[in-house]
Amino acid sequence: MLHNNENYEGEVSDGKNRRSVKCKYCNSVILSPASASFTSLEFQLPLIKQKKVNESNPETENVSLFWVVNDIFTFQNVGFSNTVGNNKYLTCADCEAGPIGYHDIPSKISYVALNRVIHC
Ligand SMILES: [Zn+2]
Repeated sequence: MLHNNENYEGEVSDGKNRRSVKCKYCNSVILSPASASFTSLEFQLPLIKQKKVNESNPETENVSLFWVVNDIFTFQNVGFSNTVGNNKYLTCADCEAGPIGYHDIPSKISYVALNRVIHC
């Protein structure tokens, strides 16, 4: 079983991210401190890849802890990869590693998976 419920309690302050959210591969800043809200929901996200690949049936994992971003202009840096249904996958704008989360097209809300990024 994949372990994605690490203890992130220290990262949440007043319901928001206490530290910067960065790409784990290139250290690019994705979100500034206190710019996203913590939430818990279930989503099947394809496994993260360091390089962009277009697979029709990617292997997924169940991810449940996310930073919610209501406006894409809140991001310091973010890229979009392929669209699947009502979702676009989020990637690092600098090195294209991803998906680091997903964007819900109808609501325009983005979700960044806590276990796909680093906090520092
Ligand atoms: Zn990166």
